[in-house]
Amino acid sequence: MDSFFKDLRSEFPILSRKIYGKDLVYLDNGATTQKPRRVVEKIENGYYYSNANIHRGVHYLSQRATEAHEAARERVGRFINADSASEIIFTRGTTESINLVAFSFGEAFCKEGDEIVVSVMEHHSNIVPWQMLCERKKMSLKVIPMNDRGEILLDEYKALLNPKVRLVAITHVSNVIGTINPVKEMIALAHAAGIKVLVDGAQSVPHIRLDVKAIDADFLAFSGHKIYGPTGIGVLYGKAELLNQIPPYQGGGEMIDQVHFEKTTYNVLPYKFEAGTPDFIGSIALSEALDFVDEIGIERIEAYEKSLLEYATMELMKIDGMRIIGTAADKSAVLSFLLGNIHPFDVGTLLDHLGIAVRIGHHCAQPLIERLGIDGTVRASFALYNTFEEVDVLVKALKRIQTMF
Ligand code: PMP
Repeated sequence: MDSFFKDLRSEFPILSRKIYGKDLVYLDNGATTQKPRRVVEKIENGYYYSNANIHRGVHYLSQRATEAHEAARERVGRFINADSASEIIFTRGTTESINLVAFSFGEAFCKEGDEIVVSVMEHHSNIVPWQMLCERKKMSLKVIPMNDRGEILLDEYKALLNPKVRLVAITHVSNVIGTINPVKEMIALAHAAGIKVLVDGAQSVPHIRLDVKAIDADFLAFSGHKIYGPTGIGVLYGKAELLNQIPPYQGGGEMIDQVHFEKTTYNVLPYKFEAGTPDFIGSIALSEALDFVDEIGIERIEAYEKSLLEYATMELMKIDGMRIIGTAADKSAVLSFLLGNIHPFDVGTLLDHLGIAVRIGHHCAQPLIERLGIDGTVRASFALYNTFEEVDVLVKALKRIQTMF
């Protein structure tokens, strides 16, 4: 299995770069993934040979670009098993997708005194938009706690589900501690109480199978750049019946049906939520990235990354003074740790000088870091092109850093 994934590395030119004279070991995939040639070529060819603004164009190039953009929408829909492509809204990324729901769902369904429920392990982009909604509408934000391993406390979650709650917004996979949350069960519990659920799939869609129908998600947000696609494009999935009931997020071209100074009417789904010229080069490149992932098979990627994570966890634990942060039973390709009393900033900087790219700090999840009672972590996050040898390089480097302190 290892050699299959190793062979794929040649598709990613950046992976053969040297950093300070050392082979790059890129372990910052939670922040963004590298891009295979075929994705970059889609972007390049798009701009060189196919560029024309989409929709309403009578000319050849515009019509082909429109078809390609709409085919990309279908592609995304198939990837997450949506009922229809009209349930796929292109956004700039997870953050914009969540902001869209916080605004539009908030306008349609929320009022003073209502509640939104999030978990303690959310990324800031799944906290702050809800805080802004709460401020706007005089509502309150409730927080699902976790245990010390980093697992959601389901009984406490159930206790939060009362008639004032309008929506639960929960991450599928934590970007800091890698916990895979039981979203299917959590959605079923929320639905039983008549509550809608948004799933933040930023860290799950690239790594594990996510079928919106199987888990019955009402909304799902994810980013193209974390799944080998370009930056600046992301997805909001929403059930059509819900999207139809909530107002547009932004106004402008594309999202309208008729505009008159007396009254303006809005376009149908998904265009109602796509004001302005969309990133039609980004969408086709994202579609190419999803083809790349599907040709390998997300289950195969999941199994390989799991074996990498298990190996890395086992090897790291052999290092004196190593503390793994987040030890949930079910984890995805993220490994946070602390090395003795050495500050994560020092570990990250020294690893960088050895060619190893990791992320350090609060990882845009300050409330989680506070809950853990620490200042931050060092985070290694894996993708399909990482190897067991790279884990060995990391372990060796950490041992070396340890002897320096
Ligand atoms: N949610 C999670 C769990 C994330 O890991 C991230 C990115 N680190 C985001 C949301 C935000 O994604 P983006 O910056 O692509 O909008």
